[in-house]
Order: sequence, then structure tokens, then C-alpha cells
Amino acid sequence: MSWDSWKQEVRCPCGKGVVIITTEMDDWNRTRVSEEILCEECLRKSELIRTQRLERNSRYSLLLNQLITYFKGKYCHIWIQHFESIKSKKELCNILNLHKIENCTIESFYYKTRTIELSKYLEGLIRIENLKKILELLGTDDSFLDKIIEEPLLLKKEIDAENLAEYMRRY
Ligand SMILES: [Zn+2]
Repeated sequence: MSWDSWKQEVRCPCGKGVVIITTEMDDWNRTRVSEEILCEECLRKSELIRTQRLERNSRYSLLLNQLITYFKGKYCHIWIQHFESIKSKKELCNILNLHKIENCTIESFYYKTRTIELSKYLEGLIRIENLKKILELLGTDDSFLDKIIEEPLLLKKEIDAENLAEYMRRY
């Protein structure tokens, strides 16, 4: 397998040097992009940002882990029990759509739940973006959760925005 590559030279952010952007493409049109910053100042800044992001990301993982562990410990069985008497997948799909926990057609709902146990599927919905919606659906409040969800939610927003910006920059 071979990679074709081409280089592009652009000004660095501070204007005192350049950044060499190398784009490579393989036989399956997969691309990868790398950057070499030829400016001391900008290189230092970019390394600082990289370190800060790594620290932030590991803090996010830690907080997320604590949050989900707390939530599952307290609500997972209630959440699964809540749907024990549900009559059909269609009914379940409607309820989840109504509370914006899912956003799918009944066909794609059948498809995504065709090989998974219902309890496993429901447990899989316990993700940070769904926690408050799940509590709302269960008709319960949790002021402790309101407190511990704030920071990871904020960090997630930041990380998502960064990933999106990175994606837009590349494609
Ligand atoms: Zn620079």
C-alpha cells in the first residue's frame, strides 16, 4: 500500500514563521493530515494547548465515569423496570422519541434493537446527554446529579465543538 503526499506551506498564526501541512492519500482515498510548525512561538503555544486539552480530556473521562457510575447505581434498575410492562417496541420507540432520548423511525428502532436484549439496550441509553431526560421521564428530581453533571456537560460541549472544528478544517 502506498501513500501519495503533497505539502502546503501557510503562514503560522503569529506571522513570524510558517506551518507545513502535509496531506497524504492512500490507494483507497483515505487521507491523513499532519502539520509541522516552523515557528518557535507558535510551536510552544500549540504544545501548551495540546497538554491542556489532554489534561482536560482525562478530567472529563474521570468525571463522566463518576457520573455514570452514580447514575447507574441509583437508577439503572428503576429505568429498566419502568418498561417491564411495555406492550410493544413501537410503544417504547414512541415514548423515547417523545422525550428526545431517541430520534428515530420505528423501522430503524426495530433494526437497532433486533439482536440486543431490551435491558441492555435501555442501559446503553444511559449517556450523559440523556441523564436529565431519563429522570424527567421517570418523574424524579435529583439535586445531587444536577450538581455533578454541570462540569462534565460543559467539558463535553467544549470537546464536541473542538472535534467539529477539527473536522471542518480537514474536510
Ligand atoms: Zn508563529
